[in-house]
Amino acid sequence: MALSAKDQELVDAATAAIKSRYRNDWQEVGAAVRTRSGRLVTGVNLDAYVGRGAVCAEAVAIGRALTEDGDQGIETIVAVRHPKPGEAGDVAVVSPCGACRELIHDYDAKARVIVPAGAGAAEVTQIGDLLPNKYRRGMT
Ligand SMILES: [Zn+2]
Repeated sequence: MALSAKDQELVDAATAAIKSRYRNDWQEVGAAVRTRSGRLVTGVNLDAYVGRGAVCAEAVAIGRALTEDGDQGIETIVAVRHPKPGEAGDVAVVSPCGACRELIHDYDAKARVIVPAGAGAAEVTQIGDLLPNKYRRGMT
């Protein structure tokens, strides 16, 4: 599915977030989430000297949204990566990592996710399509 104007607004918000907070090796990914209540919240990743302490931008955005507005569900989410100094290209949409796919699904099994579609393009997919046969507690 192609991006709507609201989807593009989300990409632009994530891009603005990482452009304003980019620090090489520390903040390289921005994210934006639109909750089902209509709130748009951004986040940037938190890298760390001890790698397992790092937190993805999507998790920061989801955490901000939940803190500010409660658990309203995720209508759409996107992450974008800022190139390193000297690296070709501009800020571009990236796919959520495996851990973020689990997190997004946990907070909204029907979330829309904006993903890369080649040559700088992006498209919309469903979180369930990015995480088939998801782990679940107990029987479902
Ligand atoms: Zn992630």
